[in-house]
Amino acid sequence: MSSESPRAVRGVKDILPDVSPLWRYVEGVAADIFDLYNFQEIRLPVFEKTEIFRRSIGETSDIVEKEMYTFTDRGGESLTLRPEGTASAVRAYIEHKLYNPPGVTRLFYVGPMFRAERPQAGRFRQFHQIGAEVFGGDDPSLDAELILMLLDFFTALKVPGLKVALNSLGCPVCRPGYREKLLAFLKEREERLCEACRSRIDRNPLRALDCKVPSCKETVADAPTIDGSLCAGCLDHFEKVRRPLRDLEAPVVVDPRLVRGLDYYTRTAFEVTAEGLGAQNAVAGGGGMTRWWRSSAARRRRPSALPSAWNGWSVSSTRRRRS
Ligand SMILES: [Zn+2]
Ligand SMILES: [Zn+2]
Repeated sequence: MSSESPRAVRGVKDILPDVSPLWRYVEGVAADIFDLYNFQEIRLPVFEKTEIFRRSIGETSDIVEKEMYTFTDRGGESLTLRPEGTASAVRAYIEHKLYNPPGVTRLFYVGPMFRAERPQAGRFRQFHQIGAEVFGGDDPSLDAELILMLLDFFTALKVPGLKVALNSLGCPVCRPGYREKLLAFLKEREERLCEACRSRIDRNPLRALDCKVPSCKETVADAPTIDGSLCAGCLDHFEKVRRPLRDLEAPVVVDPRLVRGLDYYTRTAFEVTAEGLGAQNAVAGGGGMTRWWRSSAARRRRPSALPSAWNGWSVSSTRRRRS
């Protein structure tokens, strides 16, 4: 036994009694808002089979490429500490047939998530997330409802200067065309992109729009944006997401460069920012998702019983330590 005093794993922190009342308060406000919007709580396991995340989050996302806490258990099975909540919520929804009886199912979850971050970069390896998922329809009003609920949550917490960046990422009909256009643009300028962007350029060129490396930001500044490539169905859907938000004068700005880091978003994507939280001021994000769903074995087995889409968002405690 070491004679040193015991310490928590680096990048993992205790929530001490001086701040735990604040955490309870925030979670209580969230629970009240979820009640108001008719969301029910689901308590998800903190680890899953690795393939659950690999398939749903997408092979080319940063999470799957380098941030998952994956280990082999004594039985030789590959398991992963959950890096986010959506994949588990979807897995539970299918496994427990929550689509019966048919209709809209609104779920929320609260709890710790894990990423194998480099602690020397000041990142937390355990952080906390509040998430919401709506299953059972791709009605655009559900996207608007999620955004309004998120704004209500932050407003109840008196977070100042809220703004929502909103975009449509297209669908399987129109995104491939946009992807080709963007890919051609990026290929011509490939030598100016960072190594990460170059390595995934063929698999997921959209991620370059999201890259924080200055030379990449500069390179994509005049890249084609998706708004010019959306099909009629996506344009109509996007307009119907925006209309109720406009009517309620929500602080929404369309940002055709918003792509989000995960592969599974379809159509609506959004990010909420708040003033005064520094450069990394995104406080929450989400959108519509269909991709994994469509390819999942469950859907192939019961194609008519399952809705084709779901929507969600999550709010994270800061993943970066203040030093
Ligand atoms: Zn489309
Ligand atoms: Zn890059």
